Amino acid sequence: MAKKMTTKGQIGVTTENIFPVIKQFLYSDKEIFLRELVANAVDATEKLKALAASGDLKEEMGDLKVSLELDEKKHVLKVIDEGIGMTAEEVDKYINQIAFSSAGEFLEKYKDQIQSIIGHFGLGFYSAFMVADKVTIDTLSWQEGAKAVRWSCDGSPEYEMGESDKTTRGTVITLHIDDEDKEYAEKAKIEGLLQKYCKFMPVPIIFGKEQEWKDGKYVDTDRDNVVNSIVPLWTKAPSELKDEDYKQFYRDLYPMNEEPLFWIHLNVDYPFNLTGILYFPKIKERMAIDRNKISLYCNQMFVTDHVDNIVPDFLTLLHGVIDSPDIPLNVSRSYLQSDANVKKISTYITKKVADRLDDIFKNERQALEEKWDNLKLFIEYGMLTDEKFAERAMNFALVKNTDGKYFSLEDYRKAIEPEQTDKDKKVVYLYATEPEEQYSYIEAAKNKGWDVLLFDCELDAHYVGLLEQRLKDCRFARVDSDAVENLIPKGDKVKFEMKEDERYDLENLFKAVLPGGNDYYVTGENLGENEAPILITQNEFMRRYRDMSAVGGGMNFYGSLPPSYNILVNMENPLIGKIMAAKAEGVAPQGELPAEAPEDASDEAKKEAREAREAVRKAHRADVEAFAEGNEILHQVVDLALLANGMLKGKALADFITRSRKVVSDAYMK
Ligand code: ADP
Repeated sequence: MAKKMTTKGQIGVTTENIFPVIKQFLYSDKEIFLRELVANAVDATEKLKALAASGDLKEEMGDLKVSLELDEKKHVLKVIDEGIGMTAEEVDKYINQIAFSSAGEFLEKYKDQIQSIIGHFGLGFYSAFMVADKVTIDTLSWQEGAKAVRWSCDGSPEYEMGESDKTTRGTVITLHIDDEDKEYAEKAKIEGLLQKYCKFMPVPIIFGKEQEWKDGKYVDTDRDNVVNSIVPLWTKAPSELKDEDYKQFYRDLYPMNEEPLFWIHLNVDYPFNLTGILYFPKIKERMAIDRNKISLYCNQMFVTDHVDNIVPDFLTLLHGVIDSPDIPLNVSRSYLQSDANVKKISTYITKKVADRLDDIFKNERQALEEKWDNLKLFIEYGMLTDEKFAERAMNFALVKNTDGKYFSLEDYRKAIEPEQTDKDKKVVYLYATEPEEQYSYIEAAKNKGWDVLLFDCELDAHYVGLLEQRLKDCRFARVDSDAVENLIPKGDKVKFEMKEDERYDLENLFKAVLPGGNDYYVTGENLGENEAPILITQNEFMRRYRDMSAVGGGMNFYGSLPPSYNILVNMENPLIGKIMAAKAEGVAPQGELPAEAPEDASDEAKKEAREAREAVRKAHRADVEAFAEGNEILHQVVDLALLANGMLKGKALADFITRSRKVVSDAYMK
């Protein structure tokens, strides 16, 4: 046999020696070498198919596939395709010149920030050197009369090129995995990477044989193991697909997940190319949210499952696949966000999601209602974080009332407007957050002929504010934010008149028996003879700010306020009447206050006068507190109100029980 002719050359690159650079900087992302090699093999195969289709290919095309072969002992991995192959000129052009210099340019350009470029740049063929100390190409071009070429390089900037004994069309890339990267010579590792990156490639990818369980162990069968056996559903026309196909595909993608609620098939080719399927998963609580379940593909090749720079934040809650060759992959994250194409894509996806939900609202209303509780968090989150989406969602968002009925926002307003418009012509939306705890308030509102919504989702504190802004001329009030009379005032409220010192007495009286007295504002009101002696309410706005900062809204100032409740003392209630009468009898009125110091008095004198007045007040206050302390019925009335609101806890609760026993026994045994 004649000795093959071999030429030697220098790879055209300016960087002194590129391989150490490749190895050092790309360490964290070494595994992409496999994706790059398989992608090249698939490309070569697709190009061949195109030649066959156009009639340029004279020979049989055959059943094209890409195979991987691994010799675990020798640490040799081969990527084999039956594609177009390369002639010697092409190897010289694509491998020796262009590819290498572009890799060099790339590293040159990004060498300062390369650590921060997370991920995904195609170093192409040369990424093989991240894991191999020697790489060989054997290739035979499809062109008639082409000669097989062998190229090899051992990691120095020198390569050898000569004839190859390859006799079949296509390319074999042989990697001699280096000792440092031995893991890439393990079958399981390669299998895992193929699953991750090549699951949906458009050409069959073969790695080893299918296995079966026989005589207590797995053994190879003679069937090829096809890595990408699942059909990438998004490449098909939506009209060809049934619901079950979408559900099955979801199961293939996320075998552990519950069935999705709805899905969207994306399909656009102008002004950019994008296909994909997005699923709405069941979301019950924020803590359980699974992000990063959207995988980005580029022509069926996996790129990443961090799409947070490509879609708006709320859409990262969706699951599924986006495939677009128009998303630049070789750039840093901050660049992605400012890329015009990416912006267009993001807007498009948001619009499609809104379109789909609108369509479900119009055509699958029943299904929407059934699934609403699991979809709601997603929609609310979207509305709160994306203005455009919020605008659209006002049309299809539902609300649910405490009887479990669902309404569109428009229908709901129509339903409550006649009864729930207050004197200022504002429609008052009543809502409850904890139907159990707020039961008596809900009932009181319903008895008035009003409807109460259920807002028990974590984001609702923020969401209520959003609705208030978007639905004009309205106000939201939690059912326990005021006495039912005052929730939807129809006329001017008659203020209960009290003299200043009476009001002080009332406040001191109740604060003396309330646990943590300063958390409450005490006021006297006429709530009706037959109503409870005391009503505890929470100011709508104070409470909302606190709830919002609890969910995280940057309102920490409000979040750190002590909880504040209003104690409405029903002055018309006979028990209260009796307690007030007893106080009038048992506590001497506050004595005359000493005069204030005149303007021009010395500081010393002013201070003295102030202290003298304070002393009189203090003495009287002590009398009121002593009376309160000794009045069992007052204690009892206050504790019952706290109990009704689930606010009586610990020692206060134990004291209440002991006292109740005594009060009951006193009353009965008398
Ligand atoms: P890229 O794929 O981004 O162009 P690569 O460095 O991976 O960069 O490859 C450079 C070129 O080498 C390819 O564009 C292709 O023309 C050629 N090439 C690489 N691998 C193969 C292959 N398996 N079969 C045929 N040509 C190939």
